[in-house]
Amino acid sequence: MKLETVIIEKSKKFKKEYSKIISAIKRYDRIAIFRHLMPDYDALGTQFGLYNWIKDNFPNKEIKVLGDNHVTFTPRLFPETDNLNDSWFREPFLAIILDVSNESRIADPRWKKARYKVKIDHHPKVEEFGNVAVTDTTCAAASEVVVNMLLTIKGNYMLSENAAKYFYIGLVGDSGRFQYSSTSTHTFAVASHLLNSGINISDIYQNMYLKKIDDLKVTAYILNHFDVSKDGIAYYVLDAKIQNELNITTERGKENVNLFANIDGINAWCSVTEDPNPKDPCWRVSIRSKNKPINQVAAMFEGGGHAQASGARLNTIEDLPRLVEELGKLFR
Ligand code: AMP
Repeated sequence: MKLETVIIEKSKKFKKEYSKIISAIKRYDRIAIFRHLMPDYDALGTQFGLYNWIKDNFPNKEIKVLGDNHVTFTPRLFPETDNLNDSWFREPFLAIILDVSNESRIADPRWKKARYKVKIDHHPKVEEFGNVAVTDTTCAAASEVVVNMLLTIKGNYMLSENAAKYFYIGLVGDSGRFQYSSTSTHTFAVASHLLNSGINISDIYQNMYLKKIDDLKVTAYILNHFDVSKDGIAYYVLDAKIQNELNITTERGKENVNLFANIDGINAWCSVTEDPNPKDPCWRVSIRSKNKPINQVAAMFEGGGHAQASGARLNTIEDLPRLVEELGKLFR
């Protein structure tokens, strides 16, 4: 099938929703773009990609980007988000909520004040919200869903190099550099369109995966301290004390989780990072797996996500053996 046909076929299911979304973008002069807490490449890439696309095509609109900045990606890869006070939200605005399947994980609660709400996501549906929602779990990244929409809506719109760069970061991030099983011909069709807009992919990769010498010390610590259960569940634990010694923030604890991908005998792998935040202390878990879905197990531990990449939380580290046991059952 031709790449163009792949894109058009995918868009058919959401034709009505796409046209409602573009009408809403045209209708509102004030637009706020939201996404999930603790953002990753895809959340931020989709958000800034769409921000630039709207700015390029509707230069007179006021567009805001909401949510927390990233500890290392901001400002290296993404500009700072907007710091708005509550008065901005009193006038009518459109909220576009990206890459998140449950309301409690939306990074800024003020999306609720929007006159009209649009949700675009690729996570398995947890709850539906918004006046119009596109949830396409067949896409590897939220940016893949959004680019499909932008390429197939009626009208003569431009996809600038700047917008394409951010969408590409999202696509690469959530497809694990086109390695995860969620990668499809459509993912590549979207990548091909983004490349056509003139992006420099070697610059993008260098920036995305840039490391510092100190980062190697964190990797060395993890390689010296991980465990593997009898069922092939690998995990490492970074408590608050060790984060201090390694000079990393809690957000960075999961950065090394994929050290354990593609290792013979390892079926699923997890990072377990203590979050000492006095308001809500917990242990944040990132879970990845080779070929079995782990999101049901993540859901048992206040989490969720994709079949092979999920997040969860433990209220106490005493719960870790139970998590490892539940994951292990999947591979017996
Ligand atoms: P992470 O391990 O934080 O990179 O998350 C992996 C995937 O799971 C991402 O797509 C997250 O959006 C999703 N995720 C993480 N935590 C949760 C949660 N508590 N509920 C639902 N989805 C989650």
